[in-house]
Order: sequence, then C-alpha cells, then structure tokens
Amino acid sequence: MAGVLVFAEVGEGGLAPIAKELLAAGRPLAQALGEPLVAFIAAEKAGPLAQEAGAFGAQQVYVAEHAFLKDAHPDYHLLALEQAVKRITPSAVLLGKTPLGVTVGPRLAFRLGVGVAQDVVSLKVEGGALIAERPVYGGNAMARVALRQKPFVATVRPKAFEPLAPQANPSVAVQSIPVSLDASSVKVKVLERKKVEATGIRLEDARVVVAGGRGLGGPEPFQQLEELARLLGGAVGASRAVCDAGWLPYQYQIGLTGKTITADLYIAVAISGASQHMAGISTVKNIVAINKDGDAPIFQEARFGVVGDWKKVLPAFIDEVRKLLQR
Ligand SMILES: Cc1cc2nc3c(=O)[nH]c(=O)nc-3n(C[C@H](O)[C@H](O)[C@H](O)COP(=O)(O)OP(=O)(O)OC[C@H]3O[C@@H](n4cnc5c(N)ncnc54)[C@H](O)[C@@H]3O)c2cc1C
Repeated sequence: MAGVLVFAEVGEGGLAPIAKELLAAGRPLAQALGEPLVAFIAAEKAGPLAQEAGAFGAQQVYVAEHAFLKDAHPDYHLLALEQAVKRITPSAVLLGKTPLGVTVGPRLAFRLGVGVAQDVVSLKVEGGALIAERPVYGGNAMARVALRQKPFVATVRPKAFEPLAPQANPSVAVQSIPVSLDASSVKVKVLERKKVEATGIRLEDARVVVAGGRGLGGPEPFQQLEELARLLGGAVGASRAVCDAGWLPYQYQIGLTGKTITADLYIAVAISGASQHMAGISTVKNIVAINKDGDAPIFQEARFGVVGDWKKVLPAFIDEVRKLLQR
C-alpha cells in the first residue's frame, strides 16, 4: 500500500479545519504520484469523522480508536501515527502546523529516519522528490526544500490551502487500525486542560485584524482597538511585547511564537514590526501602520502608513470609519 497520508486532527464537533486543508494540499500530490489520498484519524471514537474526511477528498480512511486518543496528546498521537504509517507505508505524510502537528511531525520523521519540511505553504512532486516552499526571514523570502527519501513528511501552515468543495455522498473505504498505547511508555503528562473562552471571530479566521503593540502603553487602549475591530467585523491581535507585559493573554499574540494570520487587512497600531512579529503576517494582503517613528520597520511592509501618535490618529481613524459605514 502507498498513498499520501493526511494526519487528520479532530476539532470541535468534527474534523479540524486543517484536516480539510491538508486533504486539498494532498490531492495533487497523490495524483502526481499515482497513489490514493488517505486520511488517518486517531480519536476516542471516530464516528462520522471518517465520512467527513471522505467528503473532503479522502479516498481511503484509516481510523485508530482508543480512550487515550480522546484529546490531543503529543506522545499518544505520535505512537498511533507511527504505528499507522508503518502499516500503511505511505509515500508522504502531511500534518498541520498546529500545536499537535509541530510536535508529532518532526518526531515521526526522526523515528522513520527521514527528513521533515516545516511550515510549508506550497508542495509539489518533481523528479521523484517532494518540493516544499516555506517562508523564511519573517516572510521576506521563500526557501525551497527538497525531500528525496520516502515517506516525505511535511507540516503545512494553516490557511495555506483552501479545502475542496465537500461531496454530498462520498464513497470512502474505512478501515480500522489497531494501535497499542501504553501509559507507562509516555513521557508527557497532561496535568490540566484549560479551554480558552473565545468570543467573536477567531484571529486566524478574521479577514480584518486590528493589532496593538507596546507603544500603546498599557491594556486600556485595547478598548479602542476592539471598537475599530468591531466596526470592521474583525478581531484584535497583539505583539509579543503586549502579551509578555500581561496586557492581553497569549492567545492574542501574532508572530513567530504566536499565531499566523492570513487577513486581507491588518492594522498595526504602535507595533515596531520586528521580524518575529512580521513572520506571523507574511501572507496578509494589506498592512496599515500607525507609528510615531517614521523609521519603524513596519513601514517597509505597510501599504498605507500614518506617522503620528496613536492617541491622535486612532480616534480620528475610528471616527472616519464610523462615518463611512453610516453612508
Ligand atoms: C525567539 C523570539 C520569538 C519572538 N516571537 C515574537 C512573536 O511571535 N510576536 C511578536 O510580536 N514578537 C515576537 N518576538 C519579539 C520581537 O522581537 C519584538 O520584541 C516585539 O515584536 C516588539 O513588540 P512591539 O512592536 O509591540 O514593541 P516595540 O518594539 O517596543 O515597538 C513599539 C512601537 O510603538 C511605537 N510607539 C510608541 N509610542 C507610540 C505612540 N504614542 N504612537 C504611535 N506609536 C508609538 C514605537 O515607535 C515602536 O515602533 C520574538 C522575539 C524572539 C527573540
């Protein structure tokens, strides 16, 4: 058996969005290799998830069901995936650049003695190798990585691929894979799980993001950013300096060690534009910057910029947006 195997993570009430994106990313690879596109689901109960994977393009679905796979766990999911890969022997394994995927992917590759391409935004098969592209230097350049040894392992950046249109009645073969998971062999112990209460649009899904930086001087000004985000139907984000200072929780952080966003419009207020921050917005279509320092690096990337004190610029900006919306 060969194939392009998608490690399909489970989300709230179904497959995680990344699983559907990976199926879209995997389809042309499977076609180029002349092999099937397969999904692997590791969960306590797979239930209708296999059919959902079929609807989004999987031709074959493998399911490992085990009580230890109820929640994302780096060791148990690695063990389950490793056993599945050894049994299925796919030509490629695609994972999401998610907290689970970035832990499991490189460890899987190491165990299989192959390379891994991380944070990939494009993939193709050329001359028997997997050619992957990934943004580097804060998104200012693209690196091409060639994997020549199978299975090719890659972690794919969320939102880099659009899911395929779902089929109404997919005919998908579902096969159960027995996995042996031993609690004594795992090193990671989950002490607590905290559910982050999300209100409004998710930062990763927002078409408009209004983000603030250290130059705001404290948590209070974020109320104005929230007001602007609300008017534009967007979400609020922040630089790491803001989260490190405890002005906002870490789920707001954008950048290398925070979230990667793909908005159409990004309004950066009092953010300098450090490369680690820019790494999270490299695929944003339009950057608007408000900063009092005309030499701030953010202006090099911004489509529109205002050099000035946010305390003056932002209220005027919000007023203008309000007026435009009332027209
Ligand atoms: C390994 C590593 C990973 C990192 N990961 C991330 C990451 O994921 N995300 C991230 O954001 N950072 C990250 N950083 C930190 C990053 O290097 C910067 O330190 C951080 O982004 C700076 O945040 P800032 O722009 O809010 O603050 P600053 O760099 O302090 O910039 C504040 C800006 O506000 C402007 N300003 C001040 N007052 C006003 C005013 N009144 N009106 C208008 N403008 C004003 C200033 O001119 C300045 O440009 C990382 C660093 C490392 C080493």
